[in-house]
Amino acid sequence: MSTPALSPLLTTLPAPGAKNITLRVDRSAERALRKRHPWLFEDGIREQQSEGRAGDHAVIFDHNRNFLALGLYDPGSSIRVRILHAGKPTPVDEDFYRQRLVELVARRKPLLKKRTDGYRLINGENEGMPGFTLDRYADTLVLKLYTPAWVPHLPMLLPVLLEVQPALRVVLRLSREVMQRKEELFGLSDGTLLYGPELSGPVLFRENGLTFECDPLRGQKTGFFLDQRENRERVESLARGKDVLNVFSYTGGFSLYAARGGARKVVSLDLSKPALEAAERNFVLNQDNPQVAAAKHELLPADAFKGLKALAEQKRRFDLVIIDPPSFAKRQSEVENALAAYERLVRLGLNVLRSGGHLVLASCSARVSSEEFFSLVHSAASKAGRPIDEVSRSGHALDHPVGFPEGEYLKCLFGIVA
Ligand code: SAH
Repeated sequence: MSTPALSPLLTTLPAPGAKNITLRVDRSAERALRKRHPWLFEDGIREQQSEGRAGDHAVIFDHNRNFLALGLYDPGSSIRVRILHAGKPTPVDEDFYRQRLVELVARRKPLLKKRTDGYRLINGENEGMPGFTLDRYADTLVLKLYTPAWVPHLPMLLPVLLEVQPALRVVLRLSREVMQRKEELFGLSDGTLLYGPELSGPVLFRENGLTFECDPLRGQKTGFFLDQRENRERVESLARGKDVLNVFSYTGGFSLYAARGGARKVVSLDLSKPALEAAERNFVLNQDNPQVAAAKHELLPADAFKGLKALAEQKRRFDLVIIDPPSFAKRQSEVENALAAYERLVRLGLNVLRSGGHLVLASCSARVSSEEFFSLVHSAASKAGRPIDEVSRSGHALDHPVGFPEGEYLKCLFGIVA
């Protein structure tokens, strides 16, 4: 068998600029960088010696011309520099990345004991790799870039990555903004195979002993919502004997855990038919588990708001309702609408929840704060005449650490409703 090679595209990428870009910043940017904020915005720059290309190293100095930080330059983004290192000057080279990757892999060790081989290996700016996330699904690594600044560094980085975290293949995914900047991608595109054999179908991986399929090429995020693992475990512990409704189910993550937890019946509701078909296949993959085999699984392709209303009108009721919507507020201007949508979902969810039942409501909108979200859920429930007794709140899991305020997005409330 021949050894799989790195994609030939990686050999034709231009090297990062040999000369650093030197920048001086204003006092407020200086303060942020001293607090280890990972972003330098364009409007914080006071002086810049030369222009650069995406991926050039930018060295940032304070008002006294002392070294502050070093990062990746991105002329096409208002986040002009993403910080790799702050504090004392240090070379940012292969060894720098090797050491960082070794630390990040070690941090995930506790997950391996939990029969889990699908998790986030690198959580972007929260872990010193700004704009760079890496997820592992068994033998497949999925790298997602949020800036083309990493592109010139990939030929150096990939061998280091594969040395620290051996894998069968590495797939590249790009954020929507990055996809549009074609001239800075030099032939790379969303879905490019950077290393290893082509995918011949979905990848199978395990999370807490359950098997899931994921499609790293076409799936949402990098194929699966790995950030909800711990909330899914909590749902499993609440599900015995219950009728469960999983709204915004995607490929059935919460549904499978509910089934393994002994749910009598699980309804997966989502707008996406392909996601529901994958949810059904995920049930089939786990038939060796007697609880999963015994649970009835129903697919409900529908818009969540309309579907919930219809279920209420049909007088269908559940003992456990999980609502995990997509981010409703990607921009500040969308926050009001997002809050209104959460409020409607609480009301609609309560209408199909039996008395004494559990409500699980999650939000992944970074622009809605935890406090704002939790207090909105409570006030919406009280207004509906069904106040929630909170059982727990949860946030980020071990492989999705929060390293700066904007990095905190996930919150989830578990409550009992009278
Ligand atoms: N709970 C899931 C992740 C949810 S992601 C998990 O644990 O894996 C959000 C999901 O909402 C996606 O599957 C998307 O197809 C679905 N979705 C988006 N808008 C919707 C709508 N209006 N009604 C129903 N589903 C919707």
